[in-house]
Amino acid sequence: MSINRKSSIAVELANLLFDEVANFDDETVSGEGLAYYESAQVFDPVVFHNKLSARVGNYFESRQVRVEIHGKEITSFCTCEDGKQMCIHAVALLYAWVNDAADFMDLEAVLLDIGTLEKSRLMEIVKNILQKQPHLAHLFLQTEKPDWDEIDADPLI
Ligand SMILES: [Zn+2]
Repeated sequence: MSINRKSSIAVELANLLFDEVANFDDETVSGEGLAYYESAQVFDPVVFHNKLSARVGNYFESRQVRVEIHGKEITSFCTCEDGKQMCIHAVALLYAWVNDAADFMDLEAVLLDIGTLEKSRLMEIVKNILQKQPHLAHLFLQTEKPDWDEIDADPLI
């Protein structure tokens, strides 16, 4: 495929450096983020334009984390108790990005691929998704187009 899979990723995310994340770690969680990141697992990492999301933790307990970057400003949402401010899970997600960006699924590329699928194949996929995640059914009946944040914001997922 000739599509450049990195092209839809925001410049500030694409250019984010390890040292910038380390500074951010110091400023927000007293530099404890790196050790936590090294001991934690990052499940299902996804990138979409200027946003990252994943589950961070271990097989017994994990948090749904999202990070969004606008210029120099980084904001986050997490299902942990500290989730209203920058937490260690969000910092770990940023470390995962600067260390292993290739592990992140680019949602834009996935959306482009989906656009090429046959309707019958799409129906099959939708059916499988709804059987596994029935709470998403309401999205298919919504008349207004939900944005990505809205889909991902449900902490019960
Ligand atoms: Zn957290």
